[in-house]
Parts: sequence; structure tokens; C-alpha cells
Amino acid sequence: MHRTLADDLSRLPELLQSARDLAARELAGVSGRPVVQLDKAPDREALPTGGAGAEGALARFAERWAPGFSGSAGPRYLGFVTGGATPASVAGDWLTSAYDQNVSGAVGSWATALERETVGWLRELFGLGEAHSGAFVTGATASNTVGLAVAREWLGERLGVSVSRDGVGALGPVHVLSGSPHSSIGKALSVLGIGRDRLRPVPVLSGNREAVDVGALDAALSALEGRPAIVVANAGTVNTVDFDDLRAIAALKERHDFWLHVDAAFGGFAALSPSYAALVDGLDAADSVCVDLHKWLNVPYDAAVQFTRRRDLQVAVFHNASPYLGLPVGEPDFVHLTPENSRRLRALPAWFSLMAYGRDGHREIVERNVSLARELGERLAGLDGLCLLAPVRLNVVCFTLAGDPTPERVDALAQAVAASGEAFVTPTVYGGTPGLRAAFSNWRTSADDVERIIGAVARAR
Ligand SMILES: *Cc1c(COP(=O)(O)O)cnc(C)c1O
Repeated sequence: MHRTLADDLSRLPELLQSARDLAARELAGVSGRPVVQLDKAPDREALPTGGAGAEGALARFAERWAPGFSGSAGPRYLGFVTGGATPASVAGDWLTSAYDQNVSGAVGSWATALERETVGWLRELFGLGEAHSGAFVTGATASNTVGLAVAREWLGERLGVSVSRDGVGALGPVHVLSGSPHSSIGKALSVLGIGRDRLRPVPVLSGNREAVDVGALDAALSALEGRPAIVVANAGTVNTVDFDDLRAIAALKERHDFWLHVDAAFGGFAALSPSYAALVDGLDAADSVCVDLHKWLNVPYDAAVQFTRRRDLQVAVFHNASPYLGLPVGEPDFVHLTPENSRRLRALPAWFSLMAYGRDGHREIVERNVSLARELGERLAGLDGLCLLAPVRLNVVCFTLAGDPTPERVDALAQAVAASGEAFVTPTVYGGTPGLRAAFSNWRTSADDVERIIGAVARAR
């Protein structure tokens, strides 16, 4: 064994303690550090030859890189929908690395069974029934891709061809309908060989809404004259957190032949609160469902879950049968369900957080985030020179400059907020108007943080 490696092995407990000390220091200071780092990253260094040992690497990292990391784990990073990592989930994540399990299959370890238990908990949390099976993937983009891959196989079944064997060309033109799809849907369609341009926008409801007009969807499906289609319903749009009427869409199945995929990346968490659960009423009727976990469950990157009612078709798409791995029989191994072969035990951080805080603890995070978003919305609307682009429906405040909000002026506002170090919001365009989004999804965020955010935006105006 290389001498430095042998040294590290003999000092492993001390090394883990040093990493723990750095992590604890960083997390204790996450509220105080600049929320984003705008300075340029250091120049690259040459590949080390001798090696500094783990303590040396830790020192180098702390000195050269750590100061440039963002405060995205902290309470005032409101860009995208970022979430954070609960204390228990960080502990679970560390142990994922320490145990280094490969959850492609079940042989020789209970890790796969732990992933199954966690998927079962999540299914219950989001109000899905036993008919949905699921697996961990890296994020909502991967989850949407898996769901749409199963949808693609289902189209083949309806048309009497096997896409997994004959390729997507066997399908002819594919019809994908959606009101306000996330950009990852187009990406998934590209990856799947269906094509980005096959995504046909369906009109949304009038009156500052992003939810699909179910009547218009009905008409679009009728126009297909019985050809099977894929409908992507959106439960929580990124700009205004609007929700399609899932129950009404599912009811269209009585008259039309389509696969219903629901992108509930963060909107799925509405199910945790009796106050907001009606927004995802009908989710269980979906054929496939995407929920991100590194967003509102507050587990570390990267983790999401995908659910489907047609595991048989999922196996047809993803199975990786070979003489040494064996054909999937009975309950298929995860290797036969997702794009990966070898897989990290992504379930463990989620298992830890759900075990530690339960349904109630996670519900509290969701409800607090929503009430703080509403508070910020009201306060921003009351500031001279600012206005809301849409009502605060759940956890996102979409706002802009009064008057003529040109992209340059809005960008300058975002830059000034970021430069203050106090908060981070990201630009968007909503209804043709440039604006900014402040998305609440971090477990730490408090009323004091809202004061600091308001202060930062008010000064930056
Ligand atoms: C964030 C998001 C995605 C993509 O999620 P990743 O985890 O970044 O892949 C997809 N859909 C919606 C609605 C989202 O909010």
C-alpha cells in the first residue's frame, strides 16, 4: 500500500474528525457567509504527483476552494428551487459514503431493502397507493426521463410494437401535450429520441394562470382521433407554482387514450399539508410521477424519486439482463428499473430525515416556507418600485420592477441583491415580462431571514 494511504488508514478516525470539524464550522457559519460567491475561481493547479495525504487535501480545500462555495445550504439562497440538507440527512449522506453500497442488486446486502422501505414511505407521504412502484434517481430531470421512457414503451404497447427492441422509429410521430412544462421535459424528449419539437403546448387558463385549460386539452386529444398520446401534467410550475387540475385531466382518460405523467418535482410536497393537499388531488391517478427530494425534502444533492404504475414496461425499457446478472424475476433489482447500473444508496439521507422528523417535521418545513413566501410577497408588493408578477400561490414569489422592467434593469437588480451577500434570487420571464423569483424551500429559513431579504431587495432597487 502506498505509504500516505497506509498513514491515512491508520489515522482514519482522526481524519473523519477533521472533516467533521470543518463541516460543523461551515454549517455554523452558513447564515453569516455571503449567499453567493461572485469572485472568479482560482486558476487550475497541476495534478499532484506525491499526494498531500487526506489532512493535507483537507487543508488545501479549506484554504483554496471552500471560501468560493455558495451558501446554497443556507436560509436565504432563494434561487431556482434549491432546498437544503436537514441535519439527519447530512448524517445519512455521510454514512452512504462510508458504507459505499452498490444498490444495483440485492445480493449480499440489505441496502436494497432499505431503498424499498424508503420508497414506500415516500409513496405514502405523497398520497400514492400500492399500485405505484418507485426508485431513486439523481433528480427530477432523470425522474421525468424515466417516466417518459415508460410512457414511450406504453405507446408501443398501444400500437403493437416494442420500442425497447425496435427503437422509437417504430412509433411514428409521437404526440406529447402539456400546459406549462418544465424545461427538463423537452430535454427528456430529446434524450428519448421522441424529439423536443413533439412537445405541443396546450393553452393555459386565462387570468394570470399557468395551469392547463382542461377543455383545451380535451380538444387537443380529440383532434388526435384515437391515436394514443402522452400528457405531461404539471403540479407546481417554477414561476408561479400553479397546479394543473389532476383529477379533471385523469377523468379525460374515459374518452381519450393517453399516458398521464405528472411532474410534481416540488409541488408534490403540497400533499404534506392539509392546507395545500387539495392542489395535488388526483396525483394517484397518474401513470408516472416525478418528485424531487433534494428540493423540498431537504436532503443533499442528488436525489429524486420516480413512481410508475407499469413496472413491467419499466423493466422492458431498463432491464440489464446478462448471464452474470441474471434475468429479472419476481421483484426486479433496481439495475433493471433506472438508467444506472451501479447506484449509490441515495435513499439513506431521505430515510434518515424521514426517520428523524417524520411526516410532521417535514410538513412543518413546507408550511413555514409557504407562510414566509407569502410574507415576503406582501412586503415586496408594498415597496415602492416593485410589484408582483403573480399572486404567491405557494412557496415562490415572482416579482419585478415597476415601470418598464427591461431585462437589463431586472438583471442589475438581481446582481445588486447577490452582491449584497444577503440573498440570492434568479431571473425569469413570466408572461413575456422579465422578473425575479424568490423560491422558499430551505428548512432553516426564518422570519428574521425574511427581514434580511426585504432589506437587501429594498436597498438594491
Ligand atoms: C427543478 C425541477 C425540475 C428539474 O429538477 P432537477 O432535479 O434539477 O433535475 C423538473 N421539473 C420541475 C417542475 C422542477 O421544479
